[in-house]
Amino acid sequence: RQNERESLLIALEYASKHYEKNLHQTPEGQAIGLAYFKERGFSVKTIETFELGYSLDSWEAFTKQAQADQYSLPILVKAGLTIDKNGRYFDRFRDRVIFPIHNLAGKVIAFGARILKNDKKQAKYLNSPESPVYHKSKVLYGLYQAKKSLRDDDCYLVEGYTDVISLHQAGIENVVASSGTSLTSDQIRLIRRFTPNITVLYDGDAAGIKAAIRGIDLVLEEGMNVKVVLFPDGDDPDSYVKKVGGTAFKDFINQNSQDFITFKARLYMEETKQAASGDQPFKRAEMIREVVESITKIPDAIKRSVFYRECSALLEVDEAVLIDEGNKILKQDA
Ligand code: ATP
Ligand code: MN
Ligand code: MN
Ligand code: MN
Repeated sequence: RQNERESLLIALEYASKHYEKNLHQTPEGQAIGLAYFKERGFSVKTIETFELGYSLDSWEAFTKQAQADQYSLPILVKAGLTIDKNGRYFDRFRDRVIFPIHNLAGKVIAFGARILKNDKKQAKYLNSPESPVYHKSKVLYGLYQAKKSLRDDDCYLVEGYTDVISLHQAGIENVVASSGTSLTSDQIRLIRRFTPNITVLYDGDAAGIKAAIRGIDLVLEEGMNVKVVLFPDGDDPDSYVKKVGGTAFKDFINQNSQDFITFKARLYMEETKQAASGDQPFKRAEMIREVVESITKIPDAIKRSVFYRECSALLEVDEAVLIDEGNKILKQDA
């Protein structure tokens, strides 16, 4: 219902202001939250641009205050701010730094919240649950802040909140994050409203590479041009831009971006060369098929033919065989 959506957005806006006030104006927020952000190198301007906040180390500081300010428990619960445990109500976000998530119009629709000290017992990030105003699979973190620059630049896709924020601070504003979930078609279409070019900047670890490979066929299906950059092992865009600065970061991207399909072909060739010799031929065949599958996702036939040629060289397979396999797959799907 329209009315309910409106009430939820108002409550979320209220919560966002509450967390910001905690961060900037309470001794606890300043000593813990603000100190955390400063330690990570975020400037006051950056903290304000992204409306970052802090949730107090308390079970009900937020909920009590919101009730005193006339917000109803059912709305607070539905907005994901308050948890109802058999009629006992408590704050979802406690003792965390807060990253508000905005929709394209700039309204707060959800939050991501990070623990302050890495600690194996607690999830590092906690997110708002789905609600009538927040559908995780249709949102990209940072798109509201990136909107303007996406009209002129390719879109950089990163994994995390802090990657978006650090790049922004370094003057690179054309960045959005999938926030750890695998990419969805809805998110890709959102980007396509601004640009057909995506460069995927996932973390330089095994999880990042896997996520990149999983997500990208979808991007190809939407007819977009996808490039990939791998960071040195252990780095993510946030840590890397802090090491080298914005200018060197951009140079790194320009020098190391490869289009996705040739990236996949090269990666697979390396893997099969390292694999135990016994299952190598089968493994190779399997990988070649996966590369061909990616190529078949490209809607444009001319682009497809360019990739067949290029991959035939990379994979050391006859181009005609690749095309033949590709056409079979296309026929099956039709
Ligand atoms: P930081 O630099 O603060 O440690 P990060 O963004 O580099 O964070 P990653 O571990 O690389 O964190 O994860 C990427 C993204 O995945 C996070 O920004 C977050 O959106 C999501 N994520 C990570 N861990 C969790 C978790 N335990 N629960 C839910 N989402 C998570
Ligand atoms: Mn990671
Ligand atoms: Mn990371
Ligand atoms: Mn990180």
